Amino acid sequence: MLRVHNTMSGRKEELRTRREGEVGMYVCGPTVYNFIHVGNGRAYLVFDIIKRYLRYKGYRVLHVQNFTDVDDKIIGRAAEEGISPEEVARRYEEAFREDMRRLRVLPPDVTPRATEYVEKMVRVIEALVEKGHAYEAEGDVYFSVTSFPGYGKLSGRNLEDMRAGERVEVDPRKRHPLDFALWKRAKPGEPAWDSPWGPGRPGWHIECSTMSLEHLGMGFDIHGGGQDLIFPHHENEIAQSEAYTGEEPFVRYWLHNGFVNISEEKMSKSLGNIVLVRDILERYDPDVLRMLVLQTHYRSPIDFGPQALEEAKRAYGRLEDCLFALSEYLQQKEQVTSPARTQREVELTGFFMEAEERFEEAMDDDFNTARALGVIFELVKALNTYLDEQAVMATPAGKIIAGQGRDLLLKLCQVLGLFSPLQEEEEDLYGCGGDEELRREKKAAGDEASAESRLPAPQSLIELLIELRARARAAKDWETADLIRSRLEQLGIKLEDRREGGTRWKPA
Ligand SMILES: [Zn+2]
Repeated sequence: MLRVHNTMSGRKEELRTRREGEVGMYVCGPTVYNFIHVGNGRAYLVFDIIKRYLRYKGYRVLHVQNFTDVDDKIIGRAAEEGISPEEVARRYEEAFREDMRRLRVLPPDVTPRATEYVEKMVRVIEALVEKGHAYEAEGDVYFSVTSFPGYGKLSGRNLEDMRAGERVEVDPRKRHPLDFALWKRAKPGEPAWDSPWGPGRPGWHIECSTMSLEHLGMGFDIHGGGQDLIFPHHENEIAQSEAYTGEEPFVRYWLHNGFVNISEEKMSKSLGNIVLVRDILERYDPDVLRMLVLQTHYRSPIDFGPQALEEAKRAYGRLEDCLFALSEYLQQKEQVTSPARTQREVELTGFFMEAEERFEEAMDDDFNTARALGVIFELVKALNTYLDEQAVMATPAGKIIAGQGRDLLLKLCQVLGLFSPLQEEEEDLYGCGGDEELRREKKAAGDEASAESRLPAPQSLIELLIELRARARAAKDWETADLIRSRLEQLGIKLEDRREGGTRWKPA
């Protein structure tokens, strides 16, 4: 039984999806005006891990994640750089996709851009005005928070406390200080769309309501994002969506990940303490950042810094070392006078089964990745001990158990997204509409093709590729370097960058 912590109830609840075996999930995507920092990156890694685990549990996941490509920050950036807001948005959208590819974050099924849904947003706003939930003021349109009795139910605030507590600038055009913009009148030179209230553009909150309703419909399963989105963004999404449809709930389960802190302060652009994902990837394997995210429960804060990264790197290194040691053992020649299966192998088989169960129990408990990793490291310890005992004695029974151990270790790691191959470019398309069938066909075709091409590569060719990868890295062409590494891995060749410099390779 999978239990998830629902911000709405403040408790862990059993996941009961709208449709059996299917999860509709909306994650708030980036506002594309800059490279993403580790604080933003955590959310996408967290929901990637959640999605991978849901798939492992047998759910079909339809993952929708937007791009906010019209916003004050984008307009500001465009003015600074002397290019159009659209150019800014496309540039950083591409950069985001590249960062995600490198982090092995599975691409969402649908990635709607806000600017492509403006007409629909106008229709939703019109309906809200008609129903008395919104009003126009000099070309702007505001949502009236007092018109929606449930306002504050997600964040646990009530309007009176908020009025007293928030230092909101008093705008004489607003009926209540917390009324928020659904539509913003265009200033000269800003991107604008026609509307019944004159040229303007949508507010941020209405974008997510419109796009999630469009692709997932009312009452979808999981809405995700960082804790900083609970108020006002998600509170406002609920108010808009439920007022618009007259139904509830808008979403069954609200999941929010914790902050990334630096010296006990939240990493944020406004505090000026950000570290970009791509800067980390210049110095660390993408899986090290994933490991760092996995080591902490997704709702708890992460203390980020060089020490945390080094610890994550060491932990990841232990996994790699164990996989290498198993590969080396599996390549050894068997001893002719090998003993049959002993009590040790019987014990280990039992341990494997139990480890897999405990891994699943940890993940079933609100995706407790820290505990799940604990199980993985127990497995590593057991396998290392076994290999030490075996020394150079490769036996048939030993090879079977080492093979099973390696398969299990790799399988559990991959459920969390570690040691995943780089996504194929063609899978990362717009609006493929979550066509699992099509994807499975494509994947099957790809698997067949790669099976055919699984010929042993001559050593000199591998060394040539290693050299090309080193050159790509020197030129900071990380995409090519990652591509070489991942393609070699698909061909059964695993590269290891040595601490002292240089790269060695092993059959995977
Ligand atoms: Zn959103």
